[in-house]
Amino acid sequence: MKIGIVGAGIAGIASAIRLASDGHEVEVFESNPFAGGKLSEFRLGDYRFDFGPSLFTMPQYVDDLFEYAGENPKQYFNYVRTEVVCNYFWEDGTTLSGFADAEAFALEAEQKTGVSAENVRQTLRDSQRKYDITGRLFLEFSLHRLSTWLRADILKAMFVIPTLDLFTSMNRVNERLLKHPKMVQLFNRFATYNGSNPYKAPGLLTMIPHFEHGIGCFLPEKGMVDISQSLYQLALRKGAKFYFEQKVEQILVENGKASGLIVNGHKKQYDAVVSNCDVFYTYKNLLTNQRQPERILQQPKSTSALIFYWGIKQSFKALHLHNIFFSDDYKKEFEHLADDSVYSDPTVYVNIGSKITATDAPTDCENWFVMINVPHNSGQDWDTIVKKTRKDTLTKLQRILGTDIEPLIEEETIMDPRTIDSRTQSHLGALYGTSSNNKMAAFMRHPNFSFSIKNLYFCGGSVHPGGGVPLCILSGKIVSELIAKDFTRN
Ligand code: FAD
Repeated sequence: MKIGIVGAGIAGIASAIRLASDGHEVEVFESNPFAGGKLSEFRLGDYRFDFGPSLFTMPQYVDDLFEYAGENPKQYFNYVRTEVVCNYFWEDGTTLSGFADAEAFALEAEQKTGVSAENVRQTLRDSQRKYDITGRLFLEFSLHRLSTWLRADILKAMFVIPTLDLFTSMNRVNERLLKHPKMVQLFNRFATYNGSNPYKAPGLLTMIPHFEHGIGCFLPEKGMVDISQSLYQLALRKGAKFYFEQKVEQILVENGKASGLIVNGHKKQYDAVVSNCDVFYTYKNLLTNQRQPERILQQPKSTSALIFYWGIKQSFKALHLHNIFFSDDYKKEFEHLADDSVYSDPTVYVNIGSKITATDAPTDCENWFVMINVPHNSGQDWDTIVKKTRKDTLTKLQRILGTDIEPLIEEETIMDPRTIDSRTQSHLGALYGTSSNNKMAAFMRHPNFSFSIKNLYFCGGSVHPGGGVPLCILSGKIVSELIAKDFTRN
């Protein structure tokens, strides 16, 4: 079969590997001159920066792709489990190392904040329980096919629904289990992993900490970009063809079936089409003459980010690879995320890539990725917001680190929701498609196939099972399995 894929984001690449390994002829069209979408890199002077992701969880899904393709992952892609996931800093001088090992983390939390270590253990056990019951089900299968609901494990999940905290918020669950404001704040931050608000997102999402403090957090030996680049090379070895700077203009539909693409004015015929670009963008730009699933497309979007990429001419030995500087009024911050205002004391995420690869920055210098969660673009005055947030961020870092960072910045570029949108065609610059603030959000994401157009499939962060590198890779698995089933049946 001949399959056309729109977009070479991580999900498009994952789909290409599986479909090419299944023996299909696969062609991928990407409007950028590079593969990886949000999981890509750029250089600024003597510094290298990862454009987006910095936390790597569930590496087994990357390994799975190599194994599915009949290759040994260790030959091409290697990573290490980090002992500490993140360093946390509070305004009152409290600092804490977020050990990946659950017991070490519980003891450190008790020592540094006074929370009961047993409460942390219990919270992490609860997180694992929720993941064990629902994780595979929600993440690895299409929720929109009957076959999923006939599985034996779904029955088990049905029985325990009342214990999964679906009808309360993440914050409520964290308050109930941790009973300590700093630790509630720390555990609430996991809502930002899918761009949602812990005061609204369902308590079921308290399974997320298990990814870091159960399964662990990992570092690719050659940096985050090696995930997309090694998988891109794997896709090429399996025979998938990639065409860069080739913007898809239309998905062709004939007799209710996707039949091809128009790329730069040229018509290409395919037996099936997979769209890896944002689902909103796909309908509004590539399927303009087709019925639009407005109920799904108009759902509230996830948060976005404001990112300062700074080349810093000093090495901060005390800082870890991932550092989070909390704000005092975390709740207010999330209220503001929902509207157009900006907070004056943002939580600041500082990731330092040069702690992995020496060539990422000159000697004794560091490449800082400084991220602040912000609302998606709804027409705010971003130029003013960027200016103000930059100033507030520098003031905050100086207050906590005791060093004025501004004179140390020798290279700088900035991304905001507008540039995230234009670089990856993510609607309104949302990092994770629709938000997960609604308890039914998992079921209301667009499925991995079209109900009305046959042979049309969707992968990537804006569709099921959601955003983030591991879930995007899984969406590629779901798509390839759907195609295998659908075309065997035909
Ligand atoms: P994308 O990366 O969005 O790629 C889609 C591709 O489609 C793009 O390359 C685009 O150019 C192409 N395209 C669009 N339209 C067309 C067209 N018409 N023709 C041809 N090509 C087209 N995830 C984590 O797991 N951990 C993290 O720490 C993390 N941090 C993040 C930080 C930031 C700042 C950002 C932006 C994201 C972060 N994420 C993180 C989320 C993660 O990066 C994404 O969920 C994931 O990379 C999205 O992959 P995707 O396959 O959906 O597609």
